[in-house]
Amino acid sequence: MNSLLKSLAPLALLATAAGAQAADFPIKDKPIALVVPFAAGGPTDRVARDLAEAMRKALGGATSVVVENAAGGPGGLIGANKVAKATPDGHTLLVHHIAMGVFPSLVRNLPFKVETDFEYLGMINDVPMTLIGKPTLPADNYKELMTWVQANKGKINLANAGMASASHLCGMLWQSAVGIDMTTVPYKGTAPAMTDLIGGQVDLMCDQTTNTTSQIEGKKVKAYGVTTAKRLSTPALKDVPTLQESGMKGFEVTIFHGLYAPKGTPPDAQKKLNDALKTALKDPEFIKKQEGLGAVVVTDKRMEMGEHKKFVAAEIAKWGPVIKAAGVYAD
Ligand code: ASP
Repeated sequence: MNSLLKSLAPLALLATAAGAQAADFPIKDKPIALVVPFAAGGPTDRVARDLAEAMRKALGGATSVVVENAAGGPGGLIGANKVAKATPDGHTLLVHHIAMGVFPSLVRNLPFKVETDFEYLGMINDVPMTLIGKPTLPADNYKELMTWVQANKGKINLANAGMASASHLCGMLWQSAVGIDMTTVPYKGTAPAMTDLIGGQVDLMCDQTTNTTSQIEGKKVKAYGVTTAKRLSTPALKDVPTLQESGMKGFEVTIFHGLYAPKGTPPDAQKKLNDALKTALKDPEFIKKQEGLGAVVVTDKRMEMGEHKKFVAAEIAKWGPVIKAAGVYAD
């Protein structure tokens, strides 16, 4: 062996080791955990549970895919931080929503960097939101709700999943459009918030259709509007007017969900996960479940890892000035 080849030998060994490691993904008998940064039973949890099943199938049953709830902190910061700091072997992933786009401007002393501490594995869906009220609220439509809001200024409670959550953002935008301050009541996710809304402990909430559709259908809560420009086609929601129809000009909020891995996850594992995600997004069973909950499964280029990253970067740029102008921060 000449000296050049000799000096390259350790590199070749390294390359083989890396290749072997990459080929080993998923590690035999090690489940893939989809970390949900909110309480079980809520919208993010529902997306993750449907996705877990579709990803397991897409990976050919090579390993199990489980959901792990790590709720708490502004915008689900605890779960997101857990994944940012996890071993980057492709077995600990994060399912998260629009909070990834608002973390940098809303949370001071963020313990991770959204842009550089994660690998972006592709987007999952876009989910509209609904403005809903407790069942005993004496208003059956948006017009009556506004009359009730005017008559009850200073006494209204608005539930959310904590600072920087989707429900917080939607509620903040709605309050500022209406021009009336309400007391926000934070929960560890909108599943427990929904329980209290149904029980009448809180008055109103703006939440993803993935959590509200069945409650609206079962008449457990009152529906006052959807946050999309057009009415939704989901049977249980097709008669719910848009907030724009009710006079809230330009009011439009849609929540995106994406899949993330800790920075440094081997490229081969990233590719296998992205391939599995893309297969899952085309799984008719997954699509059917998601559509039944008002969600729109991603079919565009945001399925690609680079496009997912670009999309979140654009969201960060979009929300920065809005949040600065609103003057809200979380620690
Ligand atoms: N819908 C919640 C939010 O407002 C999160 C959740 O519980 O999934 O962000």
